[in-house]
Amino acid sequence: MEENKNTLELYRDIAPKGTVDLLYKLSEGLKGISLVHVNSTRLGGGVAEMLQQLIPIFESLGISTGWEVVQGNDMFYKATKSFHNALQGQRQEITPQMYEEYLMVNKENANNIHLDSDIVVIHDPQPLPLILKKNQGSTWIWRCHIDISRPQRKVWSFLKDFVSLYDGAIFSLPSFAKNLAIPQILIYPSIDPLSDKNKELTQEDIDTRLEKIGIPKDRPIILQVSRFDRFKDPLGVIDAYRMVKKYNDCCLVLAGGSAADDPEGLQILNEVKQSAGKDKDIFVLDLSPDSHLDINALQRAATVVLQKSVKEGFGLTVAEAMWKGKPVIGGAVGGITAQLVYGATGFTVNSIEGCAYRIRYLLNNPIVSARIGKQAKEFTRRNFLITRHISDYLALMISMIKF
Ligand code: UDP
Repeated sequence: MEENKNTLELYRDIAPKGTVDLLYKLSEGLKGISLVHVNSTRLGGGVAEMLQQLIPIFESLGISTGWEVVQGNDMFYKATKSFHNALQGQRQEITPQMYEEYLMVNKENANNIHLDSDIVVIHDPQPLPLILKKNQGSTWIWRCHIDISRPQRKVWSFLKDFVSLYDGAIFSLPSFAKNLAIPQILIYPSIDPLSDKNKELTQEDIDTRLEKIGIPKDRPIILQVSRFDRFKDPLGVIDAYRMVKKYNDCCLVLAGGSAADDPEGLQILNEVKQSAGKDKDIFVLDLSPDSHLDINALQRAATVVLQKSVKEGFGLTVAEAMWKGKPVIGGAVGGITAQLVYGATGFTVNSIEGCAYRIRYLLNNPIVSARIGKQAKEFTRRNFLITRHISDYLALMISMIKF
């Protein structure tokens, strides 16, 4: 218990005053409760990133917490990626076989994974039909991480029948809420300031890592860290960089990788490489999923960080860079708008030209960049750290659990 307590104590000097005591207090009534999170990958993407960090803290608070992952086949991941794209508003052709495979894989998983906890949190659409396995007396919550404000209607009406069976649904932004008869809760995602991705690094660590991955340090670095995904607009980032490059010497780093449940990554990576062409100042890095320290070093070495998404549930990469005191330019979409308060904690943009304009503005105004970076860090401390996230979950559990 003393050791567990120490886990949380480490956050006392980082989180806003009183946060750690609040977590102890909130968890008092939840001791002995069991919780399980279910998603579709242990590696890659923001959901896996957060679960890796959240679960040990729940455990340290005396809440027995499991993490289950649905296992699918190629057709299942193709179907769920199409659902993901359709829910975020892209036109998709979804065949009857894809719907069938989706239901079949969930049925098989329902028999193989442990779902008999007091509270079950299902993340995103992939494991949604597991609700059919709900035990009486348990509380099931659907945690939606994507922007479903303008979904393709057919896909949403298919999935909505499952969502309606849950005890509640969590969204990252009020505008993502739907017309549902169940309670809908707003919870922002979070980053862990003590993880390898975000912990402090010495200048020597940063330099060594940059050298290892071959990134020069002699000119400003424009960085975007993202899975290779169309919604992240990597090609738009290259176009914006090319506009900037005519006037400002700089290099562009597109650092990405793939998620185990995302079958489209390779194709987008090839398109990005093709667009980068022979420009020696564009670095396209295909990183392994455990490259947290390399990403940390890149974010700390960057002069300007981009997240030029055209759809985004939240964008953990934005909070990661803000926490490192960097000025971030993001697409004016979804959860990015909750993080980047225009001109105060960053800039949101609506076009490639707007993005290029703001990159130049920040490159040419280091004092403004430093002020924005400082404000971004404090804003992240108050709103987007894991300790706030845990307190939201605990408050929700207290209000929803059936004692
Ligand atoms: N990430 C990573 N390696 C990569 C690309 C992304 O570790 O090659 C991490 C990134 O640092 C962030 C998460 O994956 O923590 C992505 O979360 P975000 O919410 O930005 O986007 P998602 O991939 O969930 O759409």
